Amino acid sequence: MQIAIISHDGKKADMVQFLNEHKSLLSQKKIHLIATGTTGSKVEKAGFKVEKLLSGPMGGDAQIAARVAEGIVKMVIFFRDPLEKHPHEPDISMLMRLCDVHDIPLATNPATAELLIKGV
Ligand code: PGA
Repeated sequence: MQIAIISHDGKKADMVQFLNEHKSLLSQKKIHLIATGTTGSKVEKAGFKVEKLLSGPMGGDAQIAARVAEGIVKMVIFFRDPLEKHPHEPDISMLMRLCDVHDIPLATNPATAELLIKGV
């Protein structure tokens, strides 16, 4: 099962904490983690195996959106920072839209992520 992790800069510490709290679940063999570039580096540093895509502003969110559209990514955990502006806002909107188009579970904050991964 492919799960995408994305985290804006202001939420990266929360994202790492979340991953550490769910390490045994997210380290299962059946789970393949993918992430945008900088997020992926942090995920790797936290001790997880992860496929790193491009950094968000360089197209990483768009790459994940494409995998959602292709039916490859089955869940998106997106620690958004709603208090910052992002140059790649159009890509972020596209990703969220495609999750809705394809009925792919999308968490945009830790509380929702917590509930979602209980369903893995
Ligand atoms: P990053 O991208 O993991 O490369 O920081 C995340 C984003 O801003 O979408």
